[in-house]
Amino acid sequence: MNYTIATIASHSCLQILKGAKDEGFATVAIASSKHVGFYKQYSFIDEILPTQSYKEVSALEKTLLKKNCIVVPHGSFVAYLGSDFDKKTKLPYFGSKKILEVEGDRRAQQRWLEKAGMRLPKLYKSISEVDRPVIVKMYGARGGTGYFVAQDKNELEKKLKANKTREDFVMQEYIVGIPIYIQFFYSPLSGKLEIMGVDRRYETNVDGIGRIPAVLQEKLDVVPSYTVMGNFPIVLRESLLPTVYAMGERVVEASKKLSTKGLYGPFCLETIISSDQKVYCIEISCRIVAGTNCFISGSPYSDLLFGEPMSMGRRIAREIKEAISKNRLEEILD
Ligand code: AMP
Ligand code: AMP
Repeated sequence: MNYTIATIASHSCLQILKGAKDEGFATVAIASSKHVGFYKQYSFIDEILPTQSYKEVSALEKTLLKKNCIVVPHGSFVAYLGSDFDKKTKLPYFGSKKILEVEGDRRAQQRWLEKAGMRLPKLYKSISEVDRPVIVKMYGARGGTGYFVAQDKNELEKKLKANKTREDFVMQEYIVGIPIYIQFFYSPLSGKLEIMGVDRRYETNVDGIGRIPAVLQEKLDVVPSYTVMGNFPIVLRESLLPTVYAMGERVVEASKKLSTKGLYGPFCLETIISSDQKVYCIEISCRIVAGTNCFISGSPYSDLLFGEPMSMGRRIAREIKEAISKNRLEEILD
């Protein structure tokens, strides 16, 4: 097979390239020079292309094209290269570049999720509309960095003034519940949607605050933040599975209005489930999420669908392999 699977050495690179190698592909990692040594220890990475900065990845484009590379984008692409790179690059992606752009545009995302009939937290257009606790989120995939909560309009105004960031942000109703992230794979070849895994994030310091006695919490005046550091695997209450599966199907269906090919491959519905079992969708990631790293040897859900260890990375490579053998590669690349 003369195709190479390439990605940036961060986020879910190890999983993607291990899966690609398991499916028989050559593999390339684009690594920050200081991380080359670390990535060298993995035998499933055939070649490491060093770069001083992610901003210089476009300089490697010719080399990657010569190697017949198919790029698997992940969170580092969204966070460090952005939609400008996606638009300009001639490198073929596994996944729709247009849909990836929607991931970085929270308002476009909101419209899509609304059309897909998701239950969404209320989104406030202006501070004056705020009538309940809100969470303020900065744009782009920053894994919760810089988010903050405010209990009412007054606190919100104060916090926004104190927050020096010039980035654009959204204000969302704060949902009391538990965060649950559902990892899907939609196969354009079979037309089927698969639940591949479920996880939750380990976020500092919202997940650390509970470790501090309440009296100390007040004295220390800890400000809750949502910077992700890792993930936990989850199995969902089984009666919720049909509900979330139907949500996944609706989101794929509605995506067909956003681009010709629509959403395909890996994606994740980020939800908060309240105590009355209402599933609120807070966000969608339109590519592999790092929570899939919990399941490099497969998840309970991928076990139910495949008779072998099937990570999301491997599932991607399997789809590419099948498309090559059926001469349908153009259907799955963008
Ligand atoms: P990194 O290359 O680790 O800086 O990650 C690239 C982007 O993906 C950043 O915006 C991170 O916040 C996000 N990210 C990395 N790991 C995770 C994770 N485990 N869960 C959610 N987001 C993540
Ligand atoms: P996100 O980057 O949108 O996935 O959000 C990061 C984290 O912020 C989530 O894992 C939740 O812990 C929290 N969060 C986001 N949106 C909400 C919301 N509307 N209500 C409550 N918590 C939220």
